[in-house]
Order: sequence, then C-alpha cells, then structure tokens
Amino acid sequence: MEFRIGQGYDVHRIAEGLTMVLCGVKIECGSGFIAHSDGDVAIHALCDALLGALALGDIGHLFPDTSEEFAGIDSRILLERVMKLVRGEGWELGNADITIALQAPKIAPYIKKMRESLASVMNVAAGQVSVKATTTEKLGFVGRKEGCEVWATVLVCRNQKD
Ligand code: MG
Repeated sequence: MEFRIGQGYDVHRIAEGLTMVLCGVKIECGSGFIAHSDGDVAIHALCDALLGALALGDIGHLFPDTSEEFAGIDSRILLERVMKLVRGEGWELGNADITIALQAPKIAPYIKKMRESLASVMNVAAGQVSVKATTTEKLGFVGRKEGCEVWATVLVCRNQKD
C-alpha cells in the first residue's frame, strides 16, 4: 500500500468577546480567535496537513483571506472541501493527530466532542482522529493567553478501489 504523510501548523490571536471554535466545537469562555474565517485554528492546521501530504499547496492559497466568499466561514466547510480534494486524488485518510497548545480555557472536557466533530466532517471513524491538548507552562505567547498554536499530522493511504 502507498502512504503519504503531511504536517500542518497554524496560530491565531485570541481576543475577548469573540466565539471560540476549535475542531468545529464551540468553547464557552468569552474569548475567541481573530481571523477572516471562524478562526478554527485546529481545522486550519489539519487542512494544511492533508494538503501537505499530497503537495496540493496550503489553505491560504486555496481559500484566500482576501476573498469575501470565506469571510466568517465555518471552517468545517473548508475541511470538507479539502477532504473532497484528497479523495478526488485517489487517497483516503489513515489517521490524523492534532496537538492544541492553549493556556486557557482548559479544553480537556471538549476533546471527545472535537474528535467526533472532525471524524463526522471527514466521514471517518473517531478512532482515526486524535486531539491532544497542552499548555505551555505559561511560557511564550500561548502562555500569556495571546494566542493558540496547533500542529497536525496526517497519514493518507492510496484508495484501494482505484
Ligand atoms: Mg488560520
């Protein structure tokens, strides 16, 4: 079987009074991410990992933040489009592993929901999707609660039906 691996990284700045969305799940905390889209930094990193695995560019190229079409867009739509591209190229997701670095709020209670949300958007089993959370021990911009940093790694497999 043929495999490809991809990695993605994204950062968004945190501001008060916005709605925080991570992996398609709303986090109740009174702050959110500044962005052209809904600011789902985890989905953005995941999209870049998927695109990276197949050398298809990045989400900034595919969904430019200068386009009105993507203003405030639900990032799950972007992930759906990226998965369509991946499958269109004859590949299927093996697994995805995501690490979210956020000082506050604590997102551990949301992890299960996040995995299910991503699995549902990508139409794969929740067992193929890992979401992990960490703080940075109050170090750096994440530690100062100025932003959220996410890394995503994916493995994609050549679709056997092709
Ligand atoms: Mg982004």
